[in-house]
Amino acid sequence: MEEIVTQNFDAWNAMAKSVAYVAWAVSILIVIYHVIRLASINDAKVKYDYINKSEIRTLWIAAIVLIIGCCFYANSNIQKLNTLWIFVLGFTTFAMGMIVALIIQNMLKFYYPFFIEKRLKALRYKPRISPKTGKAMKLLGESEEDAYLDEGMQAEENLFSMDYDVWKDEVTGYVKIEKYAGHLHAVQCPECNYQTFKVVKEEIMKVPSETDEGELMKHFLCSYCGYKAKKTVTLKAATKFEGSSTAATA
Ligand SMILES: [Zn+2]
Repeated sequence: MEEIVTQNFDAWNAMAKSVAYVAWAVSILIVIYHVIRLASINDAKVKYDYINKSEIRTLWIAAIVLIIGCCFYANSNIQKLNTLWIFVLGFTTFAMGMIVALIIQNMLKFYYPFFIEKRLKALRYKPRISPKTGKAMKLLGESEEDAYLDEGMQAEENLFSMDYDVWKDEVTGYVKIEKYAGHLHAVQCPECNYQTFKVVKEEIMKVPSETDEGELMKHFLCSYCGYKAKKTVTLKAATKFEGSSTAATA
């Protein structure tokens, strides 16, 4: 009892092709928009944040739109159709689309971060230019930078995987402080080597006092292989008091 529909599918085929072309064009435009936006950002720190926050998501959206276009294109040459074929075509298209989407998602999640990481590192340590002199500033080391960070910033550095970079113009004394959020940023997993190892929780084991050092426990989790690790960090004794006295004189 198979009913073969022999109507003309030209209208559908033409529509499916148009949808495919539009989707491909949109996908390309999304990527071009991202590239132009990146190129238009001059400040290294702003660029760093933009890449960190948006690049993978933007590429993922572009990929989905591209795949949708391919699904329509694959069904744009229909000559005859019955109910069974509609089901088969629909299912095959959906399954293929899902497989390709999954492959791309995994590439973006696990391989692409290596490429991003290199660029982020270069941006973070690219010498900042002083607006006062137009010359390159100096990135202060851990011990020098404390004088320019207030109590809150120092506490954040100690407690919350937060990093502050202090750039100083040694001629004029101009200082630029940049904040890097450690928990938003994955590092290389010691187990699987993917760039998917992140701080998920931090606990203060011992609060530092004026005389004694404190202790902080950082919990890491790899979103790829599930590897967990704990790391204890020593909290400087009486950081607060040194911090406030230097801040007062600065
Ligand atoms: Zn891992």
